[in-house]
Amino acid sequence: MKLCVIGGDGIGPEVVDAALAALLVLLPQLEVHHAEAGWQTFVKQGVALPQETLERARECGAVLFGAAGSPAYKVAGYRSPIVELRRSLACYANIRPTTSPMGSARAVDLVVVRENTEDLYIGEEASDGEVATALRRISRAASRRVGEVACALAASRPRRKLTIVHKANILPLSDGLFRDSVREVAAGYAGLEVEEVLVDTAAYRLAANPAAFDVLVAPNLYGDILSDLAAAFGGGLGVAPSLSVGEGCAIAEPVHGSAPDIAGRGIANPQAALSSVALLLDRVWQQPALARRLQAALADTLASGVRTPDLGGQSTSAEFTRALCARLQASS
Ligand code: ATP
Ligand code: MG
Repeated sequence: MKLCVIGGDGIGPEVVDAALAALLVLLPQLEVHHAEAGWQTFVKQGVALPQETLERARECGAVLFGAAGSPAYKVAGYRSPIVELRRSLACYANIRPTTSPMGSARAVDLVVVRENTEDLYIGEEASDGEVATALRRISRAASRRVGEVACALAASRPRRKLTIVHKANILPLSDGLFRDSVREVAAGYAGLEVEEVLVDTAAYRLAANPAAFDVLVAPNLYGDILSDLAAAFGGGLGVAPSLSVGEGCAIAEPVHGSAPDIAGRGIANPQAALSSVALLLDRVWQQPALARRLQAALADTLASGVRTPDLGGQSTSAEFTRALCARLQASS
């Protein structure tokens, strides 16, 4: 098995190192290839996702990606490397599970499946200085393939419920196409409960009653926003994992970004990266037992009181990782 590891910017390299340490306890024979991408790479090389990195990622088939920082202003030639990577590797569906932490009042267990390749993220913008426009693309093919991932996932879960998120009342052509394409796919799955919800209503319901949801499927932008919202029920951005899948390649990537405010302080929570690796083990490498071992070690470490500051604890990233790896070793 091969893994291409891209730390990226800010806390990216910190959380990725922690996840890799744990992964190597579980899979000592794993072949690891390090590669570069991100804003710092752009500053140094003039390109955020070097060709070399892309080739390495393709060759490995599995990527662990930390985070890419981005400039707050428009920089000529800069394109988000993670968006490029997902597109280049044809990782068209981003799976973002949220489960409420043990002992919390609300029993949330949902997954947002986000379309990864189109919508407003195609980056086609124009401006004359007074009026700016951004092009939004929705295609039947991309909507159907993300619909397939969402339907298969929903069908494999006990509640078998799928919520299609859209805004077809305002955008009947584009969002209507997304909704109808996913509906068509869902019709091929017997016993699936399918509902359609407008994105604003979905946001309200998520905040008011997140336990009502099982699997949500949404175009890129709505999925981005709703999954960050959902992450709040799972213990915050420090613990929210994701996995991008598609035509053979997969990218394990925490939902959070580069978090420049805490970068370099050794306090980033590596849990999001670790749980992303668990998704990779379970869904891509077909190692559910190893994934469960990692999840159990994570839960035990937290229960023992070892927590990073974002979860109210006082442990550093390194202390958390050491405690976790010790538990992993003990559980073998
Ligand atoms: P970017 O532009 O790269 O997305 P950002 O400023 O939006 O960076 P995020 O990484 O998206 O930052 O996270 C928002 C905030 O959540 C951070 O400022 C940080 O305080 C907190 N946070 C995110 N990830 C973690 C983590 N792994 N551990 C602890 N805190 C985190
Ligand atoms: Mg962010």
